[in-house]
Amino acid sequence: MRLPHFDLHQPSTLEEAFSLMEGGALALAGGTDLIPLMKYGLEVPSTLVSLKRVDCLKSIARRDGGVFIGAMTSLAELASSRIISENFAALFQAARSVAAPPIWNVATVGGNICQDSRCLYYNQSRAWRLEKPACLKAGGNVCHAVPKGKKCFSVYSGDLAPALAALGAMARVEKKGGSRSVSILELFSSNGLRPFTLEKEEIVTGVEIALPAKSTNSSYRKMRARPSVDYPLVSAAACVTRDGGGKIEKMRLVLGAVGPSPALVYGAGRLFEGNTLEEADWEAFSELVGKDVRMVDNLSYPGSYRKEMVPIIAARAVRAACGPGGGEENA
Ligand SMILES: Cc1cc2nc3c(=O)[nH]c(=O)nc-3n(C[C@H](O)[C@H](O)[C@H](O)COP(=O)(O)OP(=O)(O)OC[C@H]3O[C@@H](n4cnc5c(N)ncnc54)[C@H](O)[C@@H]3O)c2cc1C
Ligand code: SF4
Repeated sequence: MRLPHFDLHQPSTLEEAFSLMEGGALALAGGTDLIPLMKYGLEVPSTLVSLKRVDCLKSIARRDGGVFIGAMTSLAELASSRIISENFAALFQAARSVAAPPIWNVATVGGNICQDSRCLYYNQSRAWRLEKPACLKAGGNVCHAVPKGKKCFSVYSGDLAPALAALGAMARVEKKGGSRSVSILELFSSNGLRPFTLEKEEIVTGVEIALPAKSTNSSYRKMRARPSVDYPLVSAAACVTRDGGGKIEKMRLVLGAVGPSPALVYGAGRLFEGNTLEEADWEAFSELVGKDVRMVDNLSYPGSYRKEMVPIIAARAVRAACGPGGGEENA
């Protein structure tokens, strides 16, 4: 499979990168998501702006009572960082669950967050896709996953975003002459055709997470077909604050791989508030967690099975967040 022709720019400053992005270019980070999409003919940008030489985007640093992670920080760095492992177990575990270690060396935080949503009928070679009419996401007007479906059910399969959302992280989004700070969930549109709210010329320059209180802990759990290297089929990140007696004071639960964006489970915190893990109403929890989730047959496991696993993976994340250090890593 050949890459289509494109122009490559390699700026060394952010200002240069912002100017180059203005002509309708795509940002290139590690390329582990974008290059396969280009080889499949699913992305055909005429210009790529590589962020590899923009050194100010590569750092993990304490800043204003929190930690700032530059967008070009590699997953290898994230997965070996003490600041991250000691404060943000969910993010540490999520980073270590992405693909496999060789990919961590090139894959970046910004690219992981901004990766496109996926579907068994879409992430295929051009030759494979020619057997069927183009689906909605590929510019056609049918959906192969849901016959007569009028919208795209592709699945956002990034591991970092659910963890970052559970931790209450903010993304720094910048372009020439403007910048804004938005919550991780605000980066997502819930539209499988175009999963992000980013404007074409905007770049995510980093994420900021407030340092947690001592009584707060988090964890990330992921179900995947091959533990050695695979995208999530369902995932969950929990961030839990408990009092000295082990009663839960606050909880934030975010699901991953359940639709075109990570999904915050509204009401999960209230359900646990004032209870220890043993006192919690786990039946009500299972009902609440699976309630609004619609999963279709467009990943390697059936949607019905993945839906059944949602409360199980979510419960594992909550229990692990109540254990020391976010529990052991993903089984
Ligand atoms: C075999 C294999 C297994 C994988 N398994 C997983 C997995 O388990 N979990 C997982 O999460 N991912 C997985 N991936 C996908 C991918 O490797 C990771 O998501 C990786 O972190 C993407 O980062 P990157 O730097 O390579 O992004 P790129 O491919 O460079 O970019 C991805 C997208 O983000 C945009 N982008 C990049 N940086 C920015 C920025 N700073 N601002 C705005 N837009 C930006 C690009 O334009 C592109 O659209 C897998 C990939 C492979 C090949
Ligand atoms: S869910 Fe339907 S429209 Fe979306 S990528 Fe898959 S087949 Fe295409």
